[in-house]
Amino acid sequence: MTFHLKGFYMLDGRLSSCINHPAVSATARCKQCGKPLCPACVVSSPLGTFCSEVCRERFEGFTKRVQEIDQRSTRAKWNVSVYVRKILSFLLSIIVVLVLVGVVGTIFNIPVISQWVYIIRGWIGV
Ligand SMILES: [Zn+2]
Ligand SMILES: [Zn+2]
Repeated sequence: MTFHLKGFYMLDGRLSSCINHPAVSATARCKQCGKPLCPACVVSSPLGTFCSEVCRERFEGFTKRVQEIDQRSTRAKWNVSVYVRKILSFLLSIIVVLVLVGVVGTIFNIPVISQWVYIIRGWIGV
């Protein structure tokens, strides 16, 4: 990346003659290595203009890696939300158990449980 930017800016924005045809002035520049190119030498791709298939593949490889990193970070975010959902469902199941214990304790009036029910009722304020 550093090499690519260096090559790009060291030619101070002015296009010189084509690297393959010194007599022909360049109209484009390789997006990967920054070499000046005439229309005959340009290798076009949806990503830009390149001096060769090698440079195009290298640039596409780089873009692909960036996309893969993006996808990985997206997946990481998704994992976090799954983790949060797991905690929430865990808390929800605890609440359900507490409510069930409360209901059972109230109906059957089991001494130990009803004691807990009073404590839990005190917490919730029922
Ligand atoms: Zn190139
Ligand atoms: Zn050329």
